[in-house]
Amino acid sequence: MAEQFDVVIIGSGPGGYVAAVRAGQLGLKTAIVEKDTRLGGTCLLRGCIPTKAMLKSAELADHARHAADFGVNLGPVTIDIAQVLKRKDKVVAQNAGGVSFLMKKNKITVVSGFGKLLPGGTAESRQVAVTADDGKVTTLTTRTVVLATGSKPRVLPGMTIDGKLVLTSDEILDLPVIPEHLLVLGAGAVGSEFASVYRSFGSQVTLVELADRLLPVEDAEVSAEFGKAYGRRGITVHTSTKVAGVEIVDGKIRARLEPASGEGKPSSVTASHLLVAVGRAPVTEGLGLEGTQVKMERGFVHVDGFGRTAEPGVYAIGDILAGKPQLAHAASAEGVLAVEHIAGLDVRPIDFDQVPGCTYSSPEVGSIGLTEAKAKDRGIEVKVGKFPFSASGKAKVIGDATGFIKIVADAKYHQILGVHIIGPQATDLIAEAGALLRLECTVEELLAIIHAHPTLSEALHEAAHAVIGHPLHM
Ligand code: FAD
Repeated sequence: MAEQFDVVIIGSGPGGYVAAVRAGQLGLKTAIVEKDTRLGGTCLLRGCIPTKAMLKSAELADHARHAADFGVNLGPVTIDIAQVLKRKDKVVAQNAGGVSFLMKKNKITVVSGFGKLLPGGTAESRQVAVTADDGKVTTLTTRTVVLATGSKPRVLPGMTIDGKLVLTSDEILDLPVIPEHLLVLGAGAVGSEFASVYRSFGSQVTLVELADRLLPVEDAEVSAEFGKAYGRRGITVHTSTKVAGVEIVDGKIRARLEPASGEGKPSSVTASHLLVAVGRAPVTEGLGLEGTQVKMERGFVHVDGFGRTAEPGVYAIGDILAGKPQLAHAASAEGVLAVEHIAGLDVRPIDFDQVPGCTYSSPEVGSIGLTEAKAKDRGIEVKVGKFPFSASGKAKVIGDATGFIKIVADAKYHQILGVHIIGPQATDLIAEAGALLRLECTVEELLAIIHAHPTLSEALHEAAHAVIGHPLHM
């Protein structure tokens, strides 16, 4: 008799593979299906990990350029892009090996090929067909299915990605040259991070954003500070601007820019390379969802608070979800929740107001909870406090005093509703804010927590002082 699984997970990104590990820990008989030759998904192979490896090279280059200020003489800085890519690939390979090890350790059956839900399943029994590269089909029988098929770069209509001059985040990760002039469409986290990398590698960089500010999901003050910092780095920024057309003329990119409002003068930019970073589309074609009760919206899947789709026994997690953040740690949390629910544990839905968001550029940005504007939109009266890193002893010690920490608290009880950090190590500092929000801390409770000196985390403490009116070091 064919093997009977408790859960079959389609897709091995940070949603799928983490769900598989947790399912294995819970004693569920689990299979994971992956069409790629390696496990790990976008995050590990084409997203979080390779970009952060390149950002580390970029950071080192920036440090080396300023080393003489610290009394360390290194000589002229040059970038060996082949070595940057080689190291990035090594880091990815090490991590991919780690995911395979975790599958073995937790007794997960790994099935290679394209997974598809077969029609005719019931709430208790479903079948998933897996087509391998050689065309061989394996049918898995299971009690439940978790769809974790992730996302792919969105491309603007009429734009052709040639992988040489016109690139998405997938192709740029293997670009063997440093662009002379990189034009980046989209100033979300992905576009802003690549702009940061290549500026540090010496490229001229132009960043075009349709919204009226960079990192449009962040607090408006963070976006403003980020724009100033990118300006100081020599990155040319066009906000409220759309790209009306792109052509390649004499081996160069020529982009026509127009004001987003439709009013005002068009302009043009000539660049050596174009990165299209305008968002990510769900990967749900061919999954066998037509004819099921799964509710879809432009390819994205709707689920309830436990990750259940409207089709009994079919769950969905990660980047394919409608209206949820497209972040690796969100996908993992959703994966854990879904399999714990399948295992019958007493679980609670995720509070999406408490998912941190990070941009690992220079400067870094880390935020969690409500922005000042969002809190006001919800009718909450707020008090805010801000502390600049320019007043932090540790920021001066490390030679990076850009940015600030901003706390948004409710005006009556001073409960902390949001923390927004731009500056050194913002992406690590935000973890403390996550704990504060989870524990429903007030500003006064944060003030009672003693922060070590000298650390960057003292700036959070000082921002709490600022909420109630008296920072100590300003
Ligand atoms: P994915 O990681 O996309 O994995 C889906 C997997 O499913 C893939 O392996 C795919 O091959 C497989 N699959 C698809 N269809 C099928 C099928 N029918 N059968 C079998 N297998 C299938 N997020 C962060 O939190 N931090 C970051 O620093 C960060 N940096 C990023 C940088 C870049 C350049 C990009 C593009 C993204 C970044 N992200 C980051 C976002 C993050 O990568 C995604 O949110 C995350 O990977 C989503 O996880 P997932 O499991 O939903 O899907």
